Amino acid sequence: MCEITIQVNCPYCHGVKVVKNGVKRTGRQNFLCRGCGKQFQFEYAKAGCRPQSRRLALAMLVRNSGIRDIATVTGVHRQTVLRWLNKQAEACEFRPRRQSYASVQIDEVWTFVGERKRRKRWLFYAYAPETGEVLAWSWGNRSQHTVSRLYRQLGQLKIDCFCTDDWPAFTKVPPRERHLVGKAFTRHIEGVNLWLRTRNRRIVRKTACFSKKERNHYNAMKLVFYYRNHHTL
Ligand SMILES: [Zn+2]
Repeated sequence: MCEITIQVNCPYCHGVKVVKNGVKRTGRQNFLCRGCGKQFQFEYAKAGCRPQSRRLALAMLVRNSGIRDIATVTGVHRQTVLRWLNKQAEACEFRPRRQSYASVQIDEVWTFVGERKRRKRWLFYAYAPETGEVLAWSWGNRSQHTVSRLYRQLGQLKIDCFCTDDWPAFTKVPPRERHLVGKAFTRHIEGVNLWLRTRNRRIVRKTACFSKKERNHYNAMKLVFYYRNHHTL
């Protein structure tokens, strides 16, 4: 007879100070980590209960994977993936790293919710090339009204210069003396547009992957912006 010993590590902090902590109703052994105080099981009946599944799903959400792809890879139901997406995105807080910026670039990208082209959602966002962070964004139609809402969000920051392309909605919002117009001034944000398209397939042109609900759509983009600013979730 041979005996196999399995070392159980905490899936949250990878600590080794793990003790048995009763048996669950399913008959599975429950463990307690003395390091971080969290409880866990060695094996879970459902994929959605595994601590690794949530981490993997969130990483895939900002790596251009659709909800159904994530559900298939992790074995978690797609409604659970959507719940994690919304919960994580709504907990994300955006605080500018500085109070003043020499220049901020603003651009817009075309997205849609539900049936293609019928429900267009324009995303206007402001990007600071100095720190490589997305400062603010607004959703709406491709009008001055949406640009104004974005501009108001930047009101608390000292910004020397706003750079945009020559779309008419931009002409009246930033003060003329601090407004630079032309593709040469929006080089960096055009690169960010490309980066966003490789991180979230909802804004890829002619995509077949899109949100049916606005909340999911907005939160998916918020999560990608947060990942862009912090390189982690
Ligand atoms: Zn632990």
